[in-house]
Amino acid sequence: MHEFKFRRNQLYCENLKIEDIAHKFGSPLYIYSYRTLLNHYLKLKRAFGSINPLICFSIKANSNLTILKSLVREGAGLDVVSGGELFRALKVGCPRDKIVYASVGKTTHEIEAAIKTEILFLNVESLPELKHINHIAKSINKRVRVTIRMNPDITPATHKFITTGKITNKFGVDFATAYNILKHRHNFAYVDILGLHIHIGSQITESLPFIRAIARVVEFLQQLKNEGIKLEYLNIGGGLGIIYDKEKPQTAVNFAKQILPILKKIGLKIILEPGRFIVGSAGILVVKVLYIKKTAKKQFIVVDGAMNDLIRPALYDAYHKILPLRRKTARGRTQYDVVGPICESADFFAQARVMPKVEQGDLLAIMGCGAYGFSMSSNYNSRLRAAEVIVVKDKVYLIRKRESYQDLIQNELTLKL
Ligand code: PLP
Repeated sequence: MHEFKFRRNQLYCENLKIEDIAHKFGSPLYIYSYRTLLNHYLKLKRAFGSINPLICFSIKANSNLTILKSLVREGAGLDVVSGGELFRALKVGCPRDKIVYASVGKTTHEIEAAIKTEILFLNVESLPELKHINHIAKSINKRVRVTIRMNPDITPATHKFITTGKITNKFGVDFATAYNILKHRHNFAYVDILGLHIHIGSQITESLPFIRAIARVVEFLQQLKNEGIKLEYLNIGGGLGIIYDKEKPQTAVNFAKQILPILKKIGLKIILEPGRFIVGSAGILVVKVLYIKKTAKKQFIVVDGAMNDLIRPALYDAYHKILPLRRKTARGRTQYDVVGPICESADFFAQARVMPKVEQGDLLAIMGCGAYGFSMSSNYNSRLRAAEVIVVKDKVYLIRKRESYQDLIQNELTLKL
């Protein structure tokens, strides 16, 4: 459910006509609905209310400071994966004991910053990394809290680039390695290993892979307990899928219903790291039709947004609904490829899509772009990154300025060699 709806054949975001917003701020333009954003966070929070978990929004899904601040103000923590994301988390005033940090390749500098900040947990992804964390903690004479990221060897039905819990993936450690680490935890004198972490992938629309992964970890926890190794936390990651097309993902309530009994039984403090579920449906990308190009075999809608603005279709073959901002049923429907101006054939938003006929100058909404949209954008082809705005009821606020040509070259030097 989201707050992008047609009223009298015009698409609105909350109480504002999107066409008016696009005329004011130009295109391509990311538009977010504040209400949709908060509703999704609160849905999850309520669904899991009986165990009061820490919900750490995964910054990688959308790192805009206003988005982060809005969630932190509602009590969310943040899940970071780089020094840059840690910087953002602190910038928006996220309490340090609500920050968790995963990544297979944390640098010395990043680990040191996380330890000094005293974040809640570094999620350790390998034995060499654990050794390095211990070494750094010792060198600055500070203890550090960690959880071990497990690789439960689960294959959820999602795109192969976003599965992260298979044993062939680079993430986490297998059970034997985790067991050895925990058995010999006294070797890591500056590290407190307080829990386990899993994250099996993204855009997972059924509960079963989560249940399987959690069940494996719970069995492992029991084995550890039997041997006197008691842990306090379990981070069950993110990964909840949303509706892009015809998916029927589990609702927050159903998801919670399925896994709460297992989580209650183990009695550990629970952390969740959702990204897409919270912000995915809360954002759209508005683009303008530059040309309708007919060839012998196809009809292309060439728009002013491109794969540098939204790379999901090119990267994951992802489906996004595309809706004209004005509904004109009299025009009929036809088949198009919706493409951007970039010099790559992968620069498309839709291929062979039957949709309402459009004309040059029309504005289109690419739906479901709140997660992994702007945060994956780039300057490829020296294109300026889009502006971002957020709608709160009947007001719209600019939350990221459109880049300028000067922004594009600000870190470059013109040397005469
Ligand atoms: N946690 C970790 C460790 C991740 O790698 C990711 C995404 O890849 C997430 C959480 C968020 O995933 P999602 O946006 O699917 O909820």
